[in-house]
Amino acid sequence: ERAERKLLSLRGIVLAFGGVRAIDGLDLDLRQGEVHGLIGPNGSGKTTTLNVISGYYRPQAGSMTLGDAPLPPGHPVGRAARGIARTFQTPRLIGEATVLENVMIGATIEGRAGFLEALLSLPRQRAEERAMAAQARLALEAVGLAGLAGVRADRLQHSELRFMEIARALVLRPEFLMLDEPAAGLSAEEIRRLGALIRAVSRQGVGVLLVEHHADLIFDICDQVTVLNLGKVLAAGMPAEIRTHKEVVSAYLGA
Ligand code: ADP
Repeated sequence: ERAERKLLSLRGIVLAFGGVRAIDGLDLDLRQGEVHGLIGPNGSGKTTTLNVISGYYRPQAGSMTLGDAPLPPGHPVGRAARGIARTFQTPRLIGEATVLENVMIGATIEGRAGFLEALLSLPRQRAEERAMAAQARLALEAVGLAGLAGVRADRLQHSELRFMEIARALVLRPEFLMLDEPAAGLSAEEIRRLGALIRAVSRQGVGVLLVEHHADLIFDICDQVTVLNLGKVLAAGMPAEIRTHKEVVSAYLGA
C-alpha cells in the first residue's frame, strides 16, 4: 500500500514589496504524487509564490502547512530538510566542478546529509561521500546525464544544465519539488523528455509545482492548474477546465 500522501497547503498568503502586493491572499494545495501547474502573465506572482514555499521570502500574512504540521516561514536549508526542493530560472552551478560534484553539492549544502557530522568525523565523511556520490549518480541517470558525470559543468549545454539542476534537487529525495520555468530554452524534443521526467517523478509520489510559460507542457502533464493574475487566483482546476475557462483564455492564453 501507499504511504499517506501529504498535502502542502497555503492559506491567505500575502507578500508585498513596498506597496505592491506580489501575492495577495493566495490559497494553494499541492498534493504528493500530483503535478500542479502555476501559470499567469508576467508579474502575476508565480516566482514569488515559489520563493515563499521554498523559504526565500517571508510572507506578511497567511499560513502554510505540510502534512499535519505547520510550515513556519523559514530558511531554504530548513525547507530542504523538510523535503521541499527547487530549481531556479537561471541554473546555478560551479563551473569548474564536475557534473557529479555539482549534483552532490545539492546533497551537502541544502540537504539532509548532516553538515556538522560530516565535518567532525573524517572516516565517516568518506563513507558519506561515497554514499552521496552513489545517490548523485542515480539522480544523473534518472535525468539522462549519467554519461556526463565526469565532465566539467561549464562544458554543458543549456538544456543539459537544466536537467542537471533537476538531478541536484532529486538527490535530496524531496517530497515536493518546485520547478521554475524548466522548459525555458529547451527544444521540442527536450521539452518532451522533461515532461516525461516530471511525470515519472510524480509517479514516485513526489508533489511537483511547475511554474511554466510553455502552455502545451502545462496542459499535457499537469493534474491541477492554478492561474494567477495580480497575485490572486484567477482560476483553478483540472487542465481541461482551465483550457476552456473564459477569463483565462481571454486574459492569458490570448486566444
Ligand atoms: P511572475 O513570476 O509571475 O512573473 P513575480 O512573482 O516575479 O511574477 O512578481 C510579482 C510582482 O512582484 C511583480 O509586480 C514584480 O515586479 C514584483 N516583485 C517580484 N520580486 C520583487 C522584488 N524582489 N522586489 C520588488 N518587487 C518584486
